[in-house]
Amino acid sequence: MNAGAGAAWTTGSMRPLCLLRDERTTLTSTLERPVAVIVVGGSLAGLMAGIALARQGHDVTLLERAQRHRPSGAALSVSESALRRILGPDHARAAARMAGPRDGDARADVPSTWAGLYEGLCRAAESEPRINLLHGARATGIGQDGDRAWASTDDGRRFEAGVLVGADGHRSLVRSAVAPDKPDALFAGYGLWLGVASERDLDYGGRWPGRFDILDSGDHVLLGYPLASPDGSTEPGERRLGWAWYDGTRNALFRRLGAVRGTAAHHSLRAADLDAGVVRELEREAGRRWPRPWRDAILDSMRRSEFAGTPIAEYVPEKLANGRIVLVGDAAHVPTPMTGRGFATSLDDAEALARHLRDVVAAGGPAALEAYEAERLAPARSLVLGGQGFSRSFTRAA
Ligand SMILES: Cc1cc2nc3c(=O)[nH]c(=O)nc-3n(C[C@H](O)[C@H](O)[C@H](O)COP(=O)(O)OP(=O)(O)OC[C@H]3O[C@@H](n4cnc5c(N)ncnc54)[C@H](O)[C@@H]3O)c2cc1C
Repeated sequence: MNAGAGAAWTTGSMRPLCLLRDERTTLTSTLERPVAVIVVGGSLAGLMAGIALARQGHDVTLLERAQRHRPSGAALSVSESALRRILGPDHARAAARMAGPRDGDARADVPSTWAGLYEGLCRAAESEPRINLLHGARATGIGQDGDRAWASTDDGRRFEAGVLVGADGHRSLVRSAVAPDKPDALFAGYGLWLGVASERDLDYGGRWPGRFDILDSGDHVLLGYPLASPDGSTEPGERRLGWAWYDGTRNALFRRLGAVRGTAAHHSLRAADLDAGVVRELEREAGRRWPRPWRDAILDSMRRSEFAGTPIAEYVPEKLANGRIVLVGDAAHVPTPMTGRGFATSLDDAEALARHLRDVVAAGGPAALEAYEAERLAPARSLVLGGQGFSRSFTRAA
């Protein structure tokens, strides 16, 4: 979808402003007025919103600045039945199988992996004929007028559509067009170290954890979780352990390495960003602080230099939509990961946005996005504010 190739609605008139210029005008759904949609950000929230909208007959261009393959150590609780609400039964089954144990919902105590879910959603998006999924496409400017919204990318292309969805994460560019008075997520005052270890690399013969473990030790909290192997096996010898270590004592390190700048959480740190002394100190602390098998998993990840450090950000939204521009996922609201609800809330956003845009003719133009905001703002705010209870008790000098 290049310049002008979108169907847009006219503000308040319920009349399509221009016809789709490509040939995909025969709808398989009952939608009366398909809308061309640009989604900025093709991670979990953007993929879910894009798929939900495309399945309703809208034409979606998804702009993602990164390349397709991105490993991540994070785990999420996700069930096939939740995914089915927006993906339909086939995509949901495939995505849940990629993300979780082979035996699916029956092993709900073993969480899904971020990487598997991302891969499952990418494949679902790639199989949707109404989605144009572009990797390596960084949006550098966005805007709107009474008739349309647009995004330009760093390679000089310009895309126009009736609606622009910001799914570009906690450091969202799109947010500045929706909430110009409050564009930035704020550093919450602590960081998170994160990794995954394979059972076969650990010299551990004790009881294998069956579910999430939370260990609280003052300025440090450890969340450990059993994971299936990358191909979904939970057989002994093939399993993995994920760990997330909340650390309230290393804000100076995050600042020194530029991961926190001023009041903003700027970027994550890879193991390669840390000097050997810092890693040795983390290893010593893990050895002192955490019991087996979590200690073994942490030390193994550190030995292999396969872990990351993330400064935690928070954003309490006051606006989710402005004219033709709307936010979903972490662009819309950033709770501490301790809530464990970021993904589920992004899924609710995608479902609500698709539902309100389905009713676009009845609602009349940007009113559909206002209706989305009216539905989603209160739960989004309460999620972030709820998580701040943990953050405020944990935060030391930021
Ligand atoms: C360490 C950590 C642990 C977490 N653990 C959990 C958990 O246990 N349970 C849970 O439910 N949630 C958890 N979350 C939150 C959850 O992962 C997110 O809420 C959810 O995945 C939605 O993220 P997102 O897609 O909105 O944002 P992101 O994953 O940040 O994706 C944003 C995407 O936009 C792209 N992008 C950014 N700017 C541009 C641009 N200008 N142009 C084009 N593309 C752009 C980025 O490359 C990225 O792919 C965790 C988050 C973190 C950071």
